[in-house]
Amino acid sequence: MAQATKLIIPCDRAERLQYIRRMFPSAIGSFLGDEWRGGRHEALKRLNSMDAVAYNRNRNFLNGAVTKLSPFFRHGCLTLKEASDGAQERFGEHAEKFVFELAWRDYWRHVWYDLGDGIFSDIEDPKVALGDKLMPDFIRQGITGLPCMDGFIRDLTQYGYVHNHARMWFAAYVVHWLKVDWREAADWFEHHLLDGDKASNHLSWQWVASLFSSKPYYFNKENLARYTGEKYCANCKITCPFDDSYEALNDKLFANLTPAPAKKHKVSIPLKVAMSTHQAVAIFVHDEMLSAAHPLMHKPMPKIFVFDDLLHGRWPLKRIQFVADCLSELQDVEVWMGDTPSVLKERGVGQVITQQTPNRQLRALLEPFNTTWQPEVKFTTAEISEKRLKRFSRYWEKVGPDLLGEHYRQP
Ligand SMILES: Cc1cc2nc3c(=O)[nH]c(=O)nc-3n(C[C@H](O)[C@H](O)[C@H](O)COP(=O)(O)OP(=O)(O)OC[C@H]3O[C@@H](n4cnc5c(N)ncnc54)[C@H](O)[C@@H]3O)c2cc1C
Repeated sequence: MAQATKLIIPCDRAERLQYIRRMFPSAIGSFLGDEWRGGRHEALKRLNSMDAVAYNRNRNFLNGAVTKLSPFFRHGCLTLKEASDGAQERFGEHAEKFVFELAWRDYWRHVWYDLGDGIFSDIEDPKVALGDKLMPDFIRQGITGLPCMDGFIRDLTQYGYVHNHARMWFAAYVVHWLKVDWREAADWFEHHLLDGDKASNHLSWQWVASLFSSKPYYFNKENLARYTGEKYCANCKITCPFDDSYEALNDKLFANLTPAPAKKHKVSIPLKVAMSTHQAVAIFVHDEMLSAAHPLMHKPMPKIFVFDDLLHGRWPLKRIQFVADCLSELQDVEVWMGDTPSVLKERGVGQVITQQTPNRQLRALLEPFNTTWQPEVKFTTAEISEKRLKRFSRYWEKVGPDLLGEHYRQP
């Protein structure tokens, strides 16, 4: 087991980023850019500067007025409820589309709570034939030869952020054109994202693949050229594999292939650790609750965060730096690196209080510590039955009116 080391996160940002690089020598990839300062302060700034009217108009365009709030939601710097309330207060009915998009995140999270590790296997039978090829190296290296796909891979690996539409095009290209096993691709993609989130990511890949939707998602050149403003197509010299009608693409991609039944994918199960015999109680601050406004931050108890190899060992450097930014805003939180049981043992902790999570790896790590799980801040007060989780449309029928009241419009 790795030795537990206490980290002293510097207040100065430039020093902080360098410090993280020194302390995590095996973390790969580029430095976190200035555009991506982590923490609640930055999240509120982004929320307060968003333009819901422009968002309605152009969010599907690569240069549209999207908020880039996803890494902040992922790490708990801001709750979906705060974002929904804040946007509705400023923009009234014009916030509807933004709230609708927030609901997708909440929906995927409910599905994760409901299915647990089931989200890592095919949820339904595919509606079209899928492939099971391994991820080719040319994807990992961003040398597909297609300027658009190479551009999206560059966004992913350099900055850790890819526009939603580009995520959909990329996933469709990998799953339907290249016939790569969705699970391997989804794992790789999530690993590079600053907002990497098992529910939003893996379930979106399943949605594209037709494993959690009634049909596959695919696109053509006209669609990509329009929403990228010809950014990649204008000077593209290659024979475009996307340049066709939807009907012709459907025949090319799916005709004469019989869908196989749903597949189970392997999930690694964390080691069991013996029950702790220590006495002290602490707040365990995990990577989904990094906000000074979190209710548990106000409790007068020791608070401990651990960069744990099991959870964060494969994270790229920029994501660890993003989390360090978030942690620098939290007073009285001890930050450690090592494995969680060793850190808690070293601190004499036998019992922890923390925020509920559907992440089974994290739950298993804390199991020996007699954990009290505090509920997350709810996005909606609507009761969501299992049946509502079969499709987003059913979930939204119930949740939309609760969130938007008189501004709710039937989709
Ligand atoms: C293949 C694929 C993988 C994805 N992986 C992730 C992931 O790992 N983490 C992640 O947070 N999102 C993921 N998404 C969803 C979505 O692409 C991002 O949430 C969104 O692009 C974030 O950018 P933004 O904050 O500027 O979005 P905005 O358009 O400004 O939307 C505001 C917020 O609404 C939520 N949201 C919007 N669209 C979606 C959506 N389709 N699904 C879920 N939530 C949504 C996000 O929390 C987002 O921050 C993935 C989508 C696809 C197609």
